[in-house]
Amino acid sequence: MKYKFNHKSLSFEIEEISVKQKLKKIFSYTGIAVAFALASLLIYANVFTSPKEKRLKRELEENDLRIAYLERRVNLLSHVLKDLEEKDDNIYRALLESEPVADRNRWMDTVEAPYEKRVSAKNLDDLSRKTDILAARTQVELQSFAELWEMIQHADERMRHIPAITPVKNPQVISGFGMRYHPIYHILRRHTGIDFIGKRGQPIYATADGVVSRDGPGSGYGIAVMLNHGYGYQTVYAHLSKANVRPGQKVKRGDVVGFMGSSGLSSGTHLHYEVIKNGQRVNPVHFFYADLSPAEYEEILQRASEVNRALS
Ligand SMILES: [Zn+2]
Repeated sequence: MKYKFNHKSLSFEIEEISVKQKLKKIFSYTGIAVAFALASLLIYANVFTSPKEKRLKRELEENDLRIAYLERRVNLLSHVLKDLEEKDDNIYRALLESEPVADRNRWMDTVEAPYEKRVSAKNLDDLSRKTDILAARTQVELQSFAELWEMIQHADERMRHIPAITPVKNPQVISGFGMRYHPIYHILRRHTGIDFIGKRGQPIYATADGVVSRDGPGSGYGIAVMLNHGYGYQTVYAHLSKANVRPGQKVKRGDVVGFMGSSGLSSGTHLHYEVIKNGQRVNPVHFFYADLSPAEYEEILQRASEVNRALS
């Protein structure tokens, strides 16, 4: 209870303090206290840094460094992948006579549009997007290599079915492909194969994988073996002394298909060898590359180009 001196009545009177005034006082004290507390906190936060804050700051700086490092790595990987894509298109696919990957950019569909750039996490968002792109491009490239692997299987199959060796060991070419004198008719005629001389009974080898044809190459060839290799290729081994295979039989490159002789229209023991591509007789010299040294190949080319007398 408070007393107040009244100058008019010259007496002490009990002072009436309203509830409103009381509240006002309480609030003003509390207000000052709160303001003081806030001010101290602000000063403390600005002037002093807690160990925890220091640690967090350091972590943030380290994270920035890590992000920069990761970004450099992602960029490097992106370059490596680009190099692989170019190799894929320009070397691997060219070797297999295949078109470049047409839909290499299909990854675009699988990657989300650029993230909304938030200032604080801009670098991380960029990094995330780059990583997504890298993953998508890698997926396309993996798919492409699976396709290449498939193609190689078939290319290998095809290579085994295209003539690649000479049909005799230690080949001695006596007459090549082109206009040659016929040994029996004594006129210039188109010689449709290559003649190899050798000993009677010498083994004759299949020059590629294939199946023994049920059709013969025609009259005048004597005892002959014709192989169907597929991929448009056939080979003919003529004037044999004896065949070593039956029609319909599967043969591998290097299998003995018969033995050298002089049957049919022939003027001496030799092998007449033909390569047929899509029904056309072509120069067999272009199909000896697997088992000859450059010198041997050179000699065969030389002998095969001389316009001499064929043994037919
Ligand atoms: Zn011939």
